[in-house]
Amino acid sequence: MERYELNDNDKMLIDTALAVLKENFDDGIYNHTVGCAVLCKNGIVYKGVNCDGIHGSCAEYITIGSAISAGERDFDTIVAVHDKYLNYVIPPCGNCRQMLFEYCPDIKVIVNDENGKLIKVKAKDLLPFA
Ligand SMILES: [Zn+2]
Repeated sequence: MERYELNDNDKMLIDTALAVLKENFDDGIYNHTVGCAVLCKNGIVYKGVNCDGIHGSCAEYITIGSAISAGERDFDTIVAVHDKYLNYVIPPCGNCRQMLFEYCPDIKVIVNDENGKLIKVKAKDLLPFA
């Protein structure tokens, strides 16, 4: 699995995900606990939070769906963060890994490595034998 170092764009992307989370987290009912941001290859950033419900939808789905609805198809990097108080990067769940693999297997995903250091890996490497 190839690993990539974070650059200034990645730090901006994390800040964007944290900002959308802080703007939309609902205290008391603990809704919208994950923020996400995706950088498209054209430089445009889309963001979103998870939507709660019986089946719910992860922030990654909301964010990629928003970008796709705007006509985007080429994605560079994605990150998700949790929660308003703890502010840490979280890896995509299995369902999101499958979605990322199908839409953009080469998108880079910001995750923590075994030592807690932020790195980027390709979505296809997060779901071997998909
Ligand atoms: Zn997910």
